[in-house]
Amino acid sequence: MKWSFKIGRVFDIELRVHITFFLIIVYAAYIWGVGYNQGWPGAVYGAVLISALFVCVVIHELCHSRMAQHYGGEVASITLLPIGGVSLLKNMPDDPKKEFWMTIVGPVSNVIIGILLIPFLYLVPNQVGGAYGAFTNADVLTGISLQGFVSYMLLINFLLAVFNLLPAFPLDGGRVLRSLLARRMSYVAATRAAVTTGQIFAFILGITGLLTGAWLWVIIAVFIYMGAEQEGAGAEMKTVLSRLTVGQAVEDDAKTVDPGQSLSEVVTIVLHAYQEDFPVVDGGKIVGVLTRANLLGGLHSRGPNATVEQVMEKEFPVVDAEARFSEVYEKMNSTGIKAIPVVKNSHLLGMVTLEHLSEVFMLLSSTDDTLTPQA
Ligand SMILES: [Zn+2]
Repeated sequence: MKWSFKIGRVFDIELRVHITFFLIIVYAAYIWGVGYNQGWPGAVYGAVLISALFVCVVIHELCHSRMAQHYGGEVASITLLPIGGVSLLKNMPDDPKKEFWMTIVGPVSNVIIGILLIPFLYLVPNQVGGAYGAFTNADVLTGISLQGFVSYMLLINFLLAVFNLLPAFPLDGGRVLRSLLARRMSYVAATRAAVTTGQIFAFILGITGLLTGAWLWVIIAVFIYMGAEQEGAGAEMKTVLSRLTVGQAVEDDAKTVDPGQSLSEVVTIVLHAYQEDFPVVDGGKIVGVLTRANLLGGLHSRGPNATVEQVMEKEFPVVDAEARFSEVYEKMNSTGIKAIPVVKNSHLLGMVTLEHLSEVFMLLSSTDDTLTPQA
């Protein structure tokens, strides 16, 4: 994710923090220092309070991740945003039951943290109104005190749980809703229903925000609306594409190029073969991939006499002919390379490109998914 920094590694997962988190720390320091008129002590207090919130978000995300790992998935990284995190999962099985448990543990962890904080309300010195006084007295919540701190953390953890359980993608609640619906209908239909629910919800939230001038609600509504759309498209693509193996629909007459060939020679092949991306083969072995972007970039920066080897992708994914098209889609997403060689028994069979993938998708999605057996 853009604008994020690596801060460490836990359980073999890269932990990243989005820049907005630092902005929120600065903002909290400003609010408690200047806004609530408490000077530097207030600023430090505000920063510590938000950092503690940060720890709760980390725990929330790690609960998702540990559960995903438990189910055999791989978690590449977690990027922490102030309202939660974004986990980059690999090889996650689309099993509604597993999705349910993987998702629900996040909000549950915040509820547990909240409950564990309740005894502390009785242990810390109370300023006003007993253990729960802070919830009815704004001065305690906005002041500097242990009671205020514990009350604030408790409130925030319950709010995090409730917010994340709203039935809208990309929030946890959207995933929970889909996993529950998927018990009664197909995964695609469940995703569609959950996406629609999320968008209706976002629409109501946005309109309410506009009418009442609550701009934060409007921002959250836009965020939910777009997230829902993205999730829906991605899930539908994956499900539809998983119905076909690569070997069933690969173009097996893909032209290859040699590492030593000049770019001008490749241009001639492009003009004659209507092929834009090439596997680079040396002595029967695939050594690289030459994409259209590599070719154009190479022609521009190095001229027509440069060799294929100088401009090709040397790090590239490969798929097996037995793999599903959904795997190709995931690999293209995670590597950014839009042309992937297909191998069968370690021999080059052909090439799958993004264009090819979208053709397969359009063809498959125009056939009724109740007629095609689900993979
Ligand atoms: Zn979550």
